[in-house]
Amino acid sequence: MGILEIAKAGQINEEMRTIARAEGLEPELVRARIAEGQIVVPLNTNRPARVVGIGRGLATKVNASIGTSTDICDVAAEVAKARAAQAAGADTLMELSVGGDLDLVRREVLAAVELPVGNVPLYQAFSEAERKYGDPNKLDAEMLFDLIERQCADGISFMAVHCGINRETLLRLERQGYRYGGLVSKGGASMVAWMMKHGRENPLYEQFERVAGILKKYDVVLSLGNGFRAGAIADSSDRAMVQELVINCELAEWGRKLGCQMMVEGPGHVPLDEIAANINLQKRMSNHAPYYMLGPLPCDIGAGYDHVTAAIGAAQSARFGADLICYITPAEHLALPTREDVIEGVKVSRLAVHIGDLAKYPERRGRDAAMSKARRDLDWQRQYDLALFPDDARRIRGERCPEGDSHVCTMCGKFCANKGANAVFGGLLAESAKR
Ligand code: SF4
Repeated sequence: MGILEIAKAGQINEEMRTIARAEGLEPELVRARIAEGQIVVPLNTNRPARVVGIGRGLATKVNASIGTSTDICDVAAEVAKARAAQAAGADTLMELSVGGDLDLVRREVLAAVELPVGNVPLYQAFSEAERKYGDPNKLDAEMLFDLIERQCADGISFMAVHCGINRETLLRLERQGYRYGGLVSKGGASMVAWMMKHGRENPLYEQFERVAGILKKYDVVLSLGNGFRAGAIADSSDRAMVQELVINCELAEWGRKLGCQMMVEGPGHVPLDEIAANINLQKRMSNHAPYYMLGPLPCDIGAGYDHVTAAIGAAQSARFGADLICYITPAEHLALPTREDVIEGVKVSRLAVHIGDLAKYPERRGRDAAMSKARRDLDWQRQYDLALFPDDARRIRGERCPEGDSHVCTMCGKFCANKGANAVFGGLLAESAKR
C-alpha cells in the first residue's frame, strides 16, 4: 500500500511521524491531511530518500532544478550542482536534463543526493524521439509510458506530467488569439506541437488512469504540469491558463481516488495583485491539493536578478498558500545556471518562503523574535545560531570586524544604537531578561 492508502485506512506510519516531528504537528493531523490529499510525501519504493512533507499546514518547501542542456552537457557539473543545492538547504531537487545520456545523468544525480528527486518525463521522451527519428513529433505514446515506468523504477519521487493539456485547453488558446509570451513550458510546447501535428488528444490526458497507476505502484507523487503557464505577466490568468488549471484540479481529485498522491503545478509569471486569486482558485477547485508554484515572477524585465524577482513572488505565494516553491537562479531567461547560481537561487528562495510563512503562520515567529533579542543584546554567537545563513553572516562580520570594541559592528561603530540604548535602559533590560 502507498502512503495515501495507508492514511486512508487510518494508519499512522513512520513517514507521517517524521513529518509531524519536523513540523511540530500531531501525527494524526498529518495522517488526516495525507488521506485528504492535502499533504503529499514524495517517495519511491525503490529508493529511500529524505522524508519531506508538502502541503497544508506545513512549512513551505523549496525545490532546486538542475540538468544538462543540449549546449552544455557536463554530468559531473550537474552532480556538483545537485550536491550544492542539497547543502544550501533545498528540500527537493528536480533533474531536468535534455542533453547527453539522460538515463546516466538521472542515475548519477539520484545516487549523489538524499533529497527526493523529481523530473519531467516529456523532456526525455521528446529528446529520444528527436535522436532516433530526427523529429520529436515522431514520439510514440507507448514509448512514453515505458519511459515513465523506467524513470519511476530508477527512484524518481515526483514527476511533473503534462496531463492537463488537452483539446479544450488548445481551443481556449486558439480562440483568445495566442498570447504575448507564447508557451514557455518545454514539455507543454512539445506536447502541443505533437497534438497539432497528429490531430490527436494528449495521451497523458487520454490515458490518465494508466499514468496514475504507474506512479502509484512506486508511491511517486504525480505533479500535474503547468504546460500553459503564463511566461509573461500580460498572459497571467488568461483563459488558456485557467482552463488547464481547471482540468488539473479535476485530475487531482480523480488521481487521489485512484490512490495516487497528487500535486498541482502553478505559474510562471503573475503580477503581485493576481497571486492570491490564483492560489485561492487552485485550492478551492482541488480541495487543497498541494500547490507547486514556479516563483512566480511578478514582472518580466528583471533578467540578471530574476532570483530576486521570483523571491518577491514566492514570499507572496507562500503567504497565500503555495506549498512548494521552485527556485529561480540569477541565470533565469539567460543561460544554464552555474553551481554558484544554484546556491544563490536556493538561499534566496529559502528566505522568500520564510517571509511568506511568517505571514501564513503568525504563531511561528519565535526564531525571528529570538534573533531580535540577540541583536539587541549584541550576542553575535546567538545571532549566527539563529540566522538562516550563518556562514555568510559570520564571514561578512569577520571581514569587517571593528578593531576596538568587538561587541558592536562597523556599521555604526562607537555610535552603536543598541549599546547606547542598553546603557540607558539597563533596568528595563534586566526585567525583560527574566521573561
Ligand atoms: S553598530 Fe549599529 S548595526 Fe552594528 S550592532 Fe550596533 S546598532 Fe546594530
